[in-house]
Amino acid sequence: MELIGQGEVFHIHTFRCRHAGEEKDEEYIKKAIDLGASAIAFTDHAPFPGDVFRNRMLMAELHEYVKTLNTLKKKFRTMIKVWVGLEIEYIPSFEHMENGINYYKQLKSMEGLDFLMLGQHMYEIEAGVYSFSLDKGTVKKMEPSGLGKAIIAGIATGYFDVVAHPDRCFRRRKVWDEELADISKAIIEQAIKYDVILEQNENSKKNKHHYWKEFWELAETVSDMSDNKSLRIIRGLDAHNTGEISMLTPKYSLEDTEEFNEWLKQYEKEEEQDREFVARLNSVEDGYDGFNAAVLTYVKKNRNRFDRVYNYMKKNPQALSSDIVEFISNQDDFYDDAVYPKK
Ligand SMILES: [Zn+2]
Ligand SMILES: [Zn+2]
Repeated sequence: MELIGQGEVFHIHTFRCRHAGEEKDEEYIKKAIDLGASAIAFTDHAPFPGDVFRNRMLMAELHEYVKTLNTLKKKFRTMIKVWVGLEIEYIPSFEHMENGINYYKQLKSMEGLDFLMLGQHMYEIEAGVYSFSLDKGTVKKMEPSGLGKAIIAGIATGYFDVVAHPDRCFRRRKVWDEELADISKAIIEQAIKYDVILEQNENSKKNKHHYWKEFWELAETVSDMSDNKSLRIIRGLDAHNTGEISMLTPKYSLEDTEEFNEWLKQYEKEEEQDREFVARLNSVEDGYDGFNAAVLTYVKKNRNRFDRVYNYMKKNPQALSSDIVEFISNQDDFYDDAVYPKK
């Protein structure tokens, strides 16, 4: 199992979904920059044609959402990468609409929209009939398999790069059993097969039975056993206000120091240079852990990056952390490590 998206702030909603804070999009971005994030991914709840579902932006607001975020993407481009995505359910009726339109394909080809995340909050029972219309007892019984099947079918369509909170399928259950394990296994295997990322959702942990550690233990086991690829997972905030923004997975944490030292050792010839690099980094006047982390993560990838940053710091001994961050984010290979989109 591979954890991706480190140093990124992932899964952000906006005021448009009608159940989030009133803050402007820009406030989320600024907060992420303050925390030293290298990227922020917006994934507000997608509208559907006809505005048939609640708790999301209207169809008429979609264009504004994408446009506004792309303006901000440009504005903040030297400081942070802004990804523009949508969280959306897989509902087959909207793949084959009466007018011949495939709504998902339409979204996939929408300019300025970077990726789709599958967030299966309900499922379609038959055309136009949804799981939220089932009575309580039936939904409790049927929801895990209903949502699970929708996720598995959704992954196979190729529309989605990530699946949000897959373990939330089981939110109405209290005990883990064989049925849930089977559904989980099928979802995990499908994600590996189609190389789709699974999201470990931070907000799920706040609600009873929304987060299932059994699911993630199984994910680890299934991924280890897979002779195919390994499963990629990302940690997401599911933030509905700026107060919920935090760095779940710093790009570089103090625990990684050992790993970094190991890496430095590979370059025995240049050992002195390496030590001086670290010394220079530590003496940046307004430096901070998140900053060191970001720089080290960037240079770790290859020696050429290291040389460029090292030379910049040597030439500009007075450079502040923001100068160095700007220098790095202007490098052509700055976004090479980014994880999405696949389209
Ligand atoms: Zn929401
Ligand atoms: Zn969400």
